Amino acid sequence: MRILHWFRKDLRLDDNPALSAAVHDATRGVVPFYTSDPTWFAAPDMAPTRVRFVLDSLAELAGRIERCGSSLALAHGDPVETVVAAARAAGADAVSWNDEYEPELRARDERVAAALTAAGIGVRRAHDRLIVTPGAVQSGSGTPYTVYTPFRKACEGLPIPTPHAAVTRLAPHDLPAREFATLARLGLPEPASAPWPAGESNAQARLERFLANGLARYGSERDYPSAPAVSQLSADLKFGTIGIRRVAHAALDAAQRDDTLVPHTVKFVQELRWRDFFAHVLWNFPHVAHGAFRPEYDALRWRGTDAMFAAWAEGRTGYPIVDAGMRELLATGLMHNRVRMIVASFLTKDLLVDWRRGERWFMQHLVDGDLASNNGGWQWAAGTGTDAAPYFRIFNPVTQGMRFDAAGLYVRRWCPELTRLPDAHLHAPWEAPPLVLAEAGVTLGETYPFPVVDHAVQREQALAMYAEVKGATAKPLTESPDERAARAAKLRKGRGPRR
Ligand code: FAD
Repeated sequence: MRILHWFRKDLRLDDNPALSAAVHDATRGVVPFYTSDPTWFAAPDMAPTRVRFVLDSLAELAGRIERCGSSLALAHGDPVETVVAAARAAGADAVSWNDEYEPELRARDERVAAALTAAGIGVRRAHDRLIVTPGAVQSGSGTPYTVYTPFRKACEGLPIPTPHAAVTRLAPHDLPAREFATLARLGLPEPASAPWPAGESNAQARLERFLANGLARYGSERDYPSAPAVSQLSADLKFGTIGIRRVAHAALDAAQRDDTLVPHTVKFVQELRWRDFFAHVLWNFPHVAHGAFRPEYDALRWRGTDAMFAAWAEGRTGYPIVDAGMRELLATGLMHNRVRMIVASFLTKDLLVDWRRGERWFMQHLVDGDLASNNGGWQWAAGTGTDAAPYFRIFNPVTQGMRFDAAGLYVRRWCPELTRLPDAHLHAPWEAPPLVLAEAGVTLGETYPFPVVDHAVQREQALAMYAEVKGATAKPLTESPDERAARAAKLRKGRGPRR
């Protein structure tokens, strides 16, 4: 048997279940193949930084494949046509791939599978992306889990499969060689953010670095955006430059060797399971891709303006931890998880902007942008989703900043105009005495913005907005429009909001 392996979001040779199975079973060799789909590049939530990550990862994969005695066959077009054509050209009896779980990708795979079957070519599919396959766990009443903790506990009852050894042998073939695409040839702009090192070797290096330096502090410091405590493996897991089993077992093995790492490893694997959870939610409830998990929240009347959205997106809200996060996103294509939660809460609960606008902005800029995790994170923050974060839990951006960036390293990195403000005032510059501002070289409204909104006021507005759809008795607005205007005027004078 000869097999064409279709690489998709599994851009690696190590711990690749479908590829390993193909190499094991193919008596006439495995031909490696990748096809780019023009509709993917044209999607409105596409981020050039993610395309660059894929192109760079493919270039490395191609080099690895050459060292295995083959070459990466490339195509561009509708996969229903390109995969069948490549399988025929390679003389393949079957095509193998690792399954995808997003609704549109599942539909695409069904179309490709049907076309292959019609052409008399076999289909070999494997589970790869997640620790636990969607559908493998169900609640006691036989329904999908909609709350993380019971989901996690059910998953913990299943073994984490061991990683597969790296493939070292692939088949030579005569498929036409094609040049790699470039962003320019794909008609995409050069991303504003710096390139995120891509490919299997960078993923492995990140994992090694995390095991050596991050894991031992993961449980205690993962919430602090300037602490080197997290793995930064999200883009690798998204595009499969590393296998999820390899990552989980590397941490578990480290904890076997050093039992001080056990609590940190437990926490780390729990975080990996958040990724599984959101993927299962999307698989079970595909409507979340377009609207609230709980449809009653689709009726929310978002009051935020385009100007507020722009201030948020560009990192000029006047709330330093929010601005730092949004600037980090634009500069790097990444943002620390704690800060993602803060800025998402701020957009929805302070600026009263529809979470779907934030979700799309993230997708347009994140190198790890992933429909399931991003949608899950946004719905969690907006309180419209599956899990137990209630709509009335509203992050205070000032106290969050003081708690998770007490020494101000993160804010000072991304908002250098505030560098000389003392820690005590860094997260609420509008409350700093004029002399302190002057000594720090900060002129509100000139070198750094006044807050675009008053958190205390907006909090009540958000509660009232949610109460409308809950029909609940959330606290009503306590200020008249005149009182609000007076408070806004005070804010502009630098007197600052209550928290
Ligand atoms: P680590 O803490 O080292 O965690 C290891 C891995 O576990 C991560 O790489 C990731 O794959 C997974 N993980 C950890 N926390 C979460 C979580 N809360 N949800 C899902 N997976 C998690 N993650 C994405 O991969 N893509 C997204 O588009 C995305 N959008 C988000 C949007 C919002 C509003 C929020 C609140 C979170 C979002 N996340 C997203 C989850 C999380 O912020 C990132 O996975 C994490 O910051 C990546 O950093 P890390 O690899 O250092 O994480």
